[in-house]
Amino acid sequence: MSLMPRMKRIAVVGAGVSGLTAAYYLNRIREEQSLELEIALLEACDRPGGVIRSVRKDGLLLEGGPEGWASYKPAAKVLVKDLGLQQDLIGSKDIHRRTFIVNQGQLTELPKGMAFFAPVDPISFWRSAPISIRGKFRASLEPFISRSKGDLSVQQFFERRLGSEFTEEVVEPLISAILGSDFRKVSARSALPEMYGIEQRTGSLWKGMRRFANIPATVSTLNSMRHGMGQVIEGLVNQLGQVQSHYSCGQLKLKKSNGSYSLVSDAFEGEFDSIIFCTPAHATASIVQDPFPETAGILNEIPYGSSNLVYLAYERSGFTHDLNGFGFIVPSREAGTVDACTWVSTKWDGRCSDDRVLIRCAIHSGRKHRADLSDEALVEAVHQELHRLLKIDSNPCLSQVFRVKGSLPQLLVGHSRKLERISESLKDDPNLYMAGSYWGGVGVPDCIKTGKAAAERVAESLFTA
Ligand SMILES: Cc1cc2nc3c(=O)[nH]c(=O)nc-3n(C[C@H](O)[C@H](O)[C@H](O)COP(=O)(O)OP(=O)(O)OC[C@H]3O[C@@H](n4cnc5c(N)ncnc54)[C@H](O)[C@@H]3O)c2cc1C
Repeated sequence: MSLMPRMKRIAVVGAGVSGLTAAYYLNRIREEQSLELEIALLEACDRPGGVIRSVRKDGLLLEGGPEGWASYKPAAKVLVKDLGLQQDLIGSKDIHRRTFIVNQGQLTELPKGMAFFAPVDPISFWRSAPISIRGKFRASLEPFISRSKGDLSVQQFFERRLGSEFTEEVVEPLISAILGSDFRKVSARSALPEMYGIEQRTGSLWKGMRRFANIPATVSTLNSMRHGMGQVIEGLVNQLGQVQSHYSCGQLKLKKSNGSYSLVSDAFEGEFDSIIFCTPAHATASIVQDPFPETAGILNEIPYGSSNLVYLAYERSGFTHDLNGFGFIVPSREAGTVDACTWVSTKWDGRCSDDRVLIRCAIHSGRKHRADLSDEALVEAVHQELHRLLKIDSNPCLSQVFRVKGSLPQLLVGHSRKLERISESLKDDPNLYMAGSYWGGVGVPDCIKTGKAAAERVAESLFTA
């Protein structure tokens, strides 16, 4: 007599890109292998996407979160292809790829011959780096420096390898602009895993990253979607198949009894064999607190930052700066209102009409006090800063502020040990999984990778036991 296998139930908590990816791949595995599997997707908010949000306004395409992703990380492109959306994959216009840095109130071009924080082309670097001969010479000694040991801060990692001048002048503003993090505290191993891995494998960034030296300007270093990042979210939501989605699911609490788990709130109740948490660490902590206080304690040790994004559009006719690059970043010593500024209309096609220019400024919570300003005050402060730096004298014809609270995990020195401790604290509960930006890196492709990996591990453990 053969017994019918019991239907297994899996919950995915959080419908940001990590959770949607997990639910999507779980559903695909279910279909491909005809598994007896029910999947529930639980989201506290009334919409999917988490920090990803694309908004059309007056002919502009504005991103309330990420505007694209690093093209050398394949996971996002694979997902876009799996969703059948590859025809809408777009690349940044790298023919205009130049980044500026604020130096004594002026914009200076970042060294040429760099890729992802590191110099890769010695000749271009020597010709163009805005640092002293001594600083260039020190950076050139990098191949002779031994491999890093242990969990170093980004500052320690780069100072060892490329010297303090390069680190202060180039790495600090890039880290502040991209990760919204303090380079003295953030972990090189956790926050820049690819670069750290290259250094560990090859012993040198100059040598290990040489393959990035001659990327022609026809190859885009960043990807996005024709209709904005929200298109990835829409594609995922449209292809969740039989996943049961529950939005506005209330404040969930995990309960554990006899080897199975329940998720309970005012608005939802369900029992599951396995759960994938794709929520920020602090949110996961409050869900698992009762049965797993130790795990919750470690999750709460992971700090998060907030970001404000300010979009300003100007009529092109009166705009006096030629926006001849991807934008600029601001080192700490020059910090005013803006941490990083993207010249969207130069960097991407299809974000605004030809008669306007579109600028996006990021203001992270790490530096100074500016995040507390009202929308109007923030727009005015950003406009004044652009007026000063770009010498423009026209006023914006449109503005939009997005506030993203507590969504950027700070992967500080010791982060990887925290993840190990979380896993150790759950060693008797192998059917609970984590994914998302604090688990495998903050970039969109990293989140997709962790969501997909969690889906594959859950399916394997539930159905091959
Ligand atoms: C301003 C900003 C700009 C960025 N720019 C880029 C970029 O250009 N390129 C790039 O690669 N990356 C960028 N990132 C990083 C990247 O966008 C994020 O790391 C990624 O989108 C996070 O996805 P996630 O699904 O892990 O988390 P989230 O998007 O935070 O999703 C988590 C979800 O969980 C839900 N949730 C929370 N609590 C609960 C609960 N108790 N119960 C149920 N659901 C809950 C939330 O509502 C949310 O929907 C940026 C991030 C920010 C904040």
